[in-house]
Amino acid sequence: MNAISNLIPISIIIPVYNAESSIGALVDQLITELKQELVRSRSKAEKDPLTGLYNRGKFDEDITRFCQTNDLAEVAVLTMVDIDHFKQFNDTFGHQKGDQVLRAVSAKLLKHVSSVGQAYRYGGEEFCFTAQFASISDMTNFTQQLRQAVTKLQIKDPNSNKVLSQVTASFGIAIKAKNSNPEQLIEKADKALYLAKEHGRNRIEIVEE
Ligand code: GH3
Ligand code: MG
Ligand code: MG
Repeated sequence: MNAISNLIPISIIIPVYNAESSIGALVDQLITELKQELVRSRSKAEKDPLTGLYNRGKFDEDITRFCQTNDLAEVAVLTMVDIDHFKQFNDTFGHQKGDQVLRAVSAKLLKHVSSVGQAYRYGGEEFCFTAQFASISDMTNFTQQLRQAVTKLQIKDPNSNKVLSQVTASFGIAIKAKNSNPEQLIEKADKALYLAKEHGRNRIEIVEE
């Protein structure tokens, strides 16, 4: 028995000791939880809630890095994707069905693009992706396959199980030059998309930087 335990019963000393060590554990746990929450919040802030794709904010962050990177594969592109006559689809079948189309197109984009680059919801019914390919023909084949995959989407009426309408999209491709500028690259992809619309939609157009 030491001097302290003579004065304080042993059953009181032990909880005091445990309390000190559990405060340390509690702080560690709190820090871990805060770190996890930060990762979750950051990931949520980068994603579009409707489609789960990366959002415009994330695109704006990434595009500068994409443009600055020079040790790229032979062909690096920014491609704009815009659903054709989507206003008409919404007006005919309703906003909810329109949302279903946006989710279905996003899933196709994600499935195809994840092996070659990064897809984003640029805004509204417009998407984009950055990607790298070994050759122009690889890039063209890839984009044509993606365009065809969109045309095969089946958005059905749950009551009749009938396909509501064929969904198509137009693709504007800007081929990146070395030391490219984000604004110019986006402008080129927009121009290519405009040409795809003007030339009849459900097609791809390419503009080189
Ligand atoms: P174009 O072939 O020239 O691209 O014609 P468009 O009708 O697709 O283009 P427009 O810009 O006229 O219309 C885009 C439509 O997209 C209008 C808007 O209501 C719809 N839209 C944008 N965001 C959403 C969304 O989150 N959900 C739904 N359902 N519709 C959306
Ligand atoms: Mg459109
Ligand atoms: Mg549009």
